[in-house]
Amino acid sequence: MTTDALENANRYFDQAAKILGLTADQSVQLRTPFREVRVELNIVRDDGSIGTFVGYRVQHDNARGPFKGGLRYHHEVDAQEVTALAQLMTWKTSVVGIPFGGGKGGIQVDTTKISLREKELLTRAFVDKIHDIVGDRTDIPAPDMYTGPQEMGWFFDQYTKYRGYAPGVVTGKPIELGGSLGRGAATGRGCLFALEEILARLNQPLAGQRVAVQGFGNVGSWAARLMGEQGAKIVAISDIAGAFANDEGIDVKAALAHVAQHGSLKGFSGGRSIPAGELLTWDCDVLVPAALGGVLTRDNAKDVRAKIVVEGANGPTTPEADEILHKKGVHVIPDILANAGGVTVSYFEWVQNLQNYYWEEARVNDELRRIMAKAFDGVWSAASQRTLPLRMAAYVVAIGRVQQATRLRGL
Ligand code: NAD
Repeated sequence: MTTDALENANRYFDQAAKILGLTADQSVQLRTPFREVRVELNIVRDDGSIGTFVGYRVQHDNARGPFKGGLRYHHEVDAQEVTALAQLMTWKTSVVGIPFGGGKGGIQVDTTKISLREKELLTRAFVDKIHDIVGDRTDIPAPDMYTGPQEMGWFFDQYTKYRGYAPGVVTGKPIELGGSLGRGAATGRGCLFALEEILARLNQPLAGQRVAVQGFGNVGSWAARLMGEQGAKIVAISDIAGAFANDEGIDVKAALAHVAQHGSLKGFSGGRSIPAGELLTWDCDVLVPAALGGVLTRDNAKDVRAKIVVEGANGPTTPEADEILHKKGVHVIPDILANAGGVTVSYFEWVQNLQNYYWEEARVNDELRRIMAKAFDGVWSAASQRTLPLRMAAYVVAIGRVQQATRLRGL
């Protein structure tokens, strides 16, 4: 998701607002972020110099509960992108019916160019600047691109220095610090559940579906692994270092072992190397974009061969591409539904933190399935009743709920 991210998010919002019959005033109220914060982060670098970075936190809407959304460490993070992603979070938490609003944050930094120590200092500097506006009842960050349990552990620890023990201030923490079992796999597992739901309605088995996955980080690797375990054939995978295809099916565990050893898929021998750009148009039944936003565009959408797109990433499809895919009859399970498994298990983590009572993994996965199935059903029904593509149906359901909550709370 890059410069057009906010424009795309607003475009989907405007279409849904029209379908819902919202007034101009209501639309402006719902779309406008509650708070946008930009902070300067200074750290002493390993070579003794001072490094200055910029961090953001945008709190979009809290009508249905505390702001909730990830922290991204990436060199393309900017105010527009964070604002767009914060808005997406509001609709995401609403579409799955969990009691949160939407927020997002990030630091503009290339994580390949900083050390682990510098990353820790940066995370702590960020907490120093924003601890006043986050908290387990106000705004609860989580991992996103290039952040994970370790960053959340540092965040929690630094926050504790200001506010005392409050593990619910962030989710996606290491298990030892109050994380939830099943959180690591949750977004990929949610993608699997969403795929199972649509296949059931299309009367197709998951076994034998040929799946291509872009991105082999948290979301992509878990989606590939779990779909593969259910009998799907993973015919292509990719990450920043390269793309690989194997018509017989990629051994996902071998790919994971390769990444664990070498840091990326570079040099992976379990498939033939293909040009990175071809992954999205690869011959497959199901495409899972699970890396960056804005990758399916008006230029490549017409060549997509998958019949189903499961949006593991946030904002992978531009509105132009969305229209092309819809006209081609491709079912696109939108990001706010398809990748909501992560925030749903983050919700479970928060509940466990507040109660200081921890669940077995089986319970986490069962409740995740229940919530994803119910959310999918609500979106599918709205799509059928109003003759809408799944994305617009998801937006209509989500925005309708936030509008109701906003109205009931009053100004
Ligand atoms: P991650 O950092 O764990 O992994 C990102 C992966 O994308 C890496 O394998 C990286 O090599 C790959 N990548 C980066 N640029 C690429 C490119 N140009 N081509 C192909 N691959 C590329 O991140 P993640 O947590 O898996 O997040 C991936 C996407 O899913 C993001 O859009 C994120 O917002 C979204 N998402 C994540 C979660 C979550 O729980 N982690 C939840 C919802 C949505």
